[in-house]
Amino acid sequence: MRLGANHSVIARRLVQTRLALGYKTQRALTDQIGIWSHLYNPFERGSRRISLGVALLIYERFGVSLDWIYCGDAAGLPAALCAQDTQTEKEAARDVLKKMAALEQALDVPAIVARLTGPSADRDRVAARAKELMDKELLALADDIATHPEIGFEEKRSTSKLTDYLRQHNFSIEAGSAGLATAFVAKFRQNNGAPTLGVIVEYDALRGTKGAFHGDQHSAQGPVGLAAAIAMSEYLARTKTPGSVIVYGTPGEEMMPPNAKTVMHEARVFDGADIIVRSHSSIQTSRPAHGFGSCCLNIIGAKYTFSGAPTHQMTPWNGRNALQAVIQFFGNVDAVRMSIRPEARIQGVILEGGAAPNVVPDRTVADFYIRYPDEVYLQQVVEFVDNAAKAAALATGTKVKIDHYGKDLDGIGLATLAEVGFQYMKNFGATGVNPDPAKPQGYEETGSVSRDIPGIGLSAQSSTFSNHTYEMDADNLKEVGHKGFTVDAQAMAAVLFDFATRADYRAAVKKEFDGIKALFGEYQTALKKVYTAPTVPDPR
Ligand SMILES: [Zn+2]
Repeated sequence: MRLGANHSVIARRLVQTRLALGYKTQRALTDQIGIWSHLYNPFERGSRRISLGVALLIYERFGVSLDWIYCGDAAGLPAALCAQDTQTEKEAARDVLKKMAALEQALDVPAIVARLTGPSADRDRVAARAKELMDKELLALADDIATHPEIGFEEKRSTSKLTDYLRQHNFSIEAGSAGLATAFVAKFRQNNGAPTLGVIVEYDALRGTKGAFHGDQHSAQGPVGLAAAIAMSEYLARTKTPGSVIVYGTPGEEMMPPNAKTVMHEARVFDGADIIVRSHSSIQTSRPAHGFGSCCLNIIGAKYTFSGAPTHQMTPWNGRNALQAVIQFFGNVDAVRMSIRPEARIQGVILEGGAAPNVVPDRTVADFYIRYPDEVYLQQVVEFVDNAAKAAALATGTKVKIDHYGKDLDGIGLATLAEVGFQYMKNFGATGVNPDPAKPQGYEETGSVSRDIPGIGLSAQSSTFSNHTYEMDADNLKEVGHKGFTVDAQAMAAVLFDFATRADYRAAVKKEFDGIKALFGEYQTALKKVYTAPTVPDPR
């Protein structure tokens, strides 16, 4: 490649990058890197090639690589600008990302943020009510749940505390939604048509070697969601504003099977919600970039159960060894890794490996999480792993049952919601603010709900330690935790207020959601074209 042979190509890339970073004007960008905008303007116009000094300033401020700026090599782009992990995905996403940048430009999110988050007495009253509920009762409830941890699908005490509180505030409760004992749906009794505001709350603790613990602070998500839901329900009823409030209690976020939210979504529990909000603990106040993606690759959970025939250790030829089968299976998986793209992450454990050394094991079970950056190629990886299991069974004379029991896939995140929520969190005094957007992702872990219903996850700093630690558990009861949870509740109430009271905002959210959803479809189609498997002829 001739370095910067064409200034106008570099210029277009600069415009695209600036917009992706969320700066509508050149001036907004140059303020960030500390140069005059008239010095920068020729670079975007294409009349001069961007100078090395300015390119370095952009790199230092945003992490945008010189490879990208000068050569268009997307491999060096920071996460916020690029949900695509592999070169193949980046190629497939190129046109889609261009269209997404145009969509975001048309929406003019910075103007929406400015319009909504300015002074509003009504909104401030609703947010203040959410804070009052936190201060008076709900922080105490969060402490209570934090100190009585229950793991996924066993959250009986936690859900009864939350539903009791909702009942006292004029919500009706439907327990055991979608056949899950600790799921619930709580509807405000004075619900009054559209728009329907949905609030997802979680309450499961982590499984630890010392017992259950709230090292991910799901203990506070219920109280945060309740504060926002109740503050909004009171506002709608008092002012006779059209709208409905529904709280969804979703169990077992930290475990599958089952994927509680996917099960509930397939049972149509979330149908009718126009927006869904949720909070989650974080070591920094942050928001995702717009687009589609997930935190930790796309995942398929798969269980492989081998059956053999028992016999005495001394006469193994009279039986069939299911342990040998599962060991062979792990060997086969390692053998096929070389035929799979290197970004795949395949790891399994043996849950059952037999009962006694003098009896040939007739039943073994392995549990795998199979991960890949996108779900299209992930299907091919899963096929390889399934075939590795079938081959092991064939080689050992055993049988295998394969159960793909769960999946967490890319979700959709929206700037119209995330940027407004982020501004509110800052306005309400959030600490540890990260100015740069994180990688795009949905507001819930399965991706299933966020693909169908627009929403936002709020993450104000609520700990100084990383997720899933005893230190984060301890922060549940400290000032940093209480502060973060209260900010989440206030910001959640404020976003719901804007959504309920402004038709223009609802239209902007819908436009962005519909646009990104369609582009996500285009991206999947593009990926299907590149991931064709080779033709393997019959042996002659
Ligand atoms: Zn969590």
